[in-house]
Amino acid sequence: MSLSIMRRIKFCAGHRLHRHGGKCEFFHGHNYVADFYVTGESVDSVGRVIDFADLKARFKGWIDEHWDHGFLLFEEDENGISAIKMVEPSKYYLLPYNPTAESMARYLLDVVAPKLLSDTEVTATKVVIWETEDSFAEASIEVSADGTSAALAADAVTT
Ligand SMILES: [Zn+2]
Repeated sequence: MSLSIMRRIKFCAGHRLHRHGGKCEFFHGHNYVADFYVTGESVDSVGRVIDFADLKARFKGWIDEHWDHGFLLFEEDENGISAIKMVEPSKYYLLPYNPTAESMARYLLDVVAPKLLSDTEVTATKVVIWETEDSFAEASIEVSADGTSAALAADAVTT
């Protein structure tokens, strides 16, 4: 049986969507909510797949260091990068794709979570990024019955 838990991490960040052509191309920011879902096949002697406090320390630690109160930019957005570098001090993070909510969820699930959980018994199976109260994007992996193969999927849901 798989057991899953979720830890919510809130943070503030700026971004812009490179070549969006509309208002999302302007520098702006959001109060983001990131929901990290992790799944395990067994529990410890206390009955947990992993301690919530441990999950918080790992995910909030990474978010605080890299994204919170920082600026997210597409690595090909040369104009945006040169602009943000003019600010002293500046905190920014370059992504290999446009910093949409979908891309952020995908990056956290695909790149960040495996590193942060490498010494645990749990696997991150879903990350949801809430960009506003009404809009979120979700990245998830399909875990097969033996818990191995995984396929990444990203879906956007706007309500
Ligand atoms: Zn935005």
